[in-house]
Amino acid sequence: MQNKGYSREWLDKLIYNSDIVSTISRYLTLTRKGNTYWACCPFHHEKTPSFAVNQQGQFYHCFGCGASGNVISFVEKMEGTDFIDTVKMLAGWAGMEVPEFHGDEDYLKRRKHRELLQNICRDSAIYYHNVLKSKDGAVGLNYLLGRGVDSKTITKLGLGYSNSWQGLVNYLLKKGYKRQDLIDAGVCDEKNNRIYDAMAERVVFPVIDHNGKVVGFSGRAIKNDSFAKYKNTKATEIFNKSSNIYCINLLRKARLEKNYAILVEGQMDVVALQQAGFSNAIATMGTAFNKNHVQTLSRFVDAVVVCFDGDNAGQKAIARSLEPLGEEGFEIKVLSLPEKLDPDEFIKKYGSEAYQKLIDNAMPVYEFEINYEASKHNLADKDEIPKFVDACIGILSTIPKESEREIYIKLVAKISGVPRESILRQLMFSKNKAVASTETPQVAGQTKNYKAEQFVLASILHKKPWALSVDIEDFVNNNLKNLYKYLLANNFPKVSKLFEDFDVENSTDIKAIINYDFSKIAKPEEEFSGCLAKMQLDSLLRRQEAVGLEIVNCTNEQMKISLLNEANEISKKIIEIKTLLNKVG
Ligand code: ZN
Repeated sequence: MQNKGYSREWLDKLIYNSDIVSTISRYLTLTRKGNTYWACCPFHHEKTPSFAVNQQGQFYHCFGCGASGNVISFVEKMEGTDFIDTVKMLAGWAGMEVPEFHGDEDYLKRRKHRELLQNICRDSAIYYHNVLKSKDGAVGLNYLLGRGVDSKTITKLGLGYSNSWQGLVNYLLKKGYKRQDLIDAGVCDEKNNRIYDAMAERVVFPVIDHNGKVVGFSGRAIKNDSFAKYKNTKATEIFNKSSNIYCINLLRKARLEKNYAILVEGQMDVVALQQAGFSNAIATMGTAFNKNHVQTLSRFVDAVVVCFDGDNAGQKAIARSLEPLGEEGFEIKVLSLPEKLDPDEFIKKYGSEAYQKLIDNAMPVYEFEINYEASKHNLADKDEIPKFVDACIGILSTIPKESEREIYIKLVAKISGVPRESILRQLMFSKNKAVASTETPQVAGQTKNYKAEQFVLASILHKKPWALSVDIEDFVNNNLKNLYKYLLANNFPKVSKLFEDFDVENSTDIKAIINYDFSKIAKPEEEFSGCLAKMQLDSLLRRQEAVGLEIVNCTNEQMKISLLNEANEISKKIIEIKTLLNKVG
């Protein structure tokens, strides 16, 4: 176990003083049923609660995604903080003094370096903001005022300006930071052995993470047309343009009133919306929406209203950007702005109330996609109708819920004039085809871990020195499972006996085990433990699912607790095995 850096006794006391139910209640609304508290899981998306908190055992467990842990790991995950900061936060709530940390030197070093980079980013943000407000910042300020950004918003978002290539460098060096640290923090670039401000001659938007720390910048060029219009801080230890979200810190504060985010295309759109009072407006850093963004967002909201410019390219971008959201079960709505306006222009023209109305009437994503397909086809032309229906089948087949799918089948029927039953038949047909095509690559009878099971069983049959005993339930393939049962029942007989009891010649599975070629395995010991771990992991995942179902259907509280304990044990084992598998590679 990793050296946690605090004494066991002190941590125990901290956990004891941080009751898990009241701590989790800071974040979620828990409903008590018997001795267990339930909520919708904050770590995956769901509509019916499968996140259980056990006060007696002081742990939580989610039957949907398998997340589990104690009060420290819960807060760690919710806040996105590291161990030390989490412990400090809990101690603060519990009114406990935090002793000095005596832990892993490397960890402390890395943590200190991250802190240093955060400080450099924070000081840079202050510098840029001060420049913007000084006479040296007139160019930047005029640009922002010209775009209708008022001084209140400039302060709220900490906007800034860099008027020179060396000003920031001198400022930071004078503060005592080292040259290399400025490069590591991404605020300076290096060329021909000289360093310079990476955001020089740009209006600067500081990027603040959900813990309120400045981690990087986005800069818009306003002077020289030969620059790229937007530039982000390069990837550093604390910033990555494909995972950070602009204004996530404000979304986090806003989430108590609004359980959805407004996703727009660029920083200036966010600025305009924030100014108009939409504190839940966010944007990616110019990259496509991806799993990282979804993961961050899912901590704070359940729904996203996607609002892009009213042009065609924007609409295409919508369709692409939504995939990772849909996969995570987010409720997605699409807001199409009229007259090809962007959010900034729309609000200037019609005001924020009109914008709020658009949000309230935003279209569910499937409806949007179907209408978009309809706009692409000339439905007055009879030849176009089947093409439109084909395109819609693709959309319909991605809708997970049957009741929801039904609504949109009817919509497609209404738009195309094709009877609902025909569309349904076509949908079923395409689904069957899809299922068949995903199944074909698997050779009949070969389950997921077939190769691993084969090697493990062959090692046992041939009594190899690395072979250990295995739980019968770890086998999935029926033929192999039966063979292992037979070996157990017959006290691990000689291989030859198999030929008496089985029709070896006609059983591919058994023949392969008997004739297993061990020479192709370089490190059989490691291979064996790797294969076994894979099988055990699979078996545990199956058990986890089964226990989850039992718990949902269990009406006896006493039994439920023991099931919860079992589920917790399973989760722990799963984590152990996953760590092992990561080490093995
Ligand atoms: Zn979950």
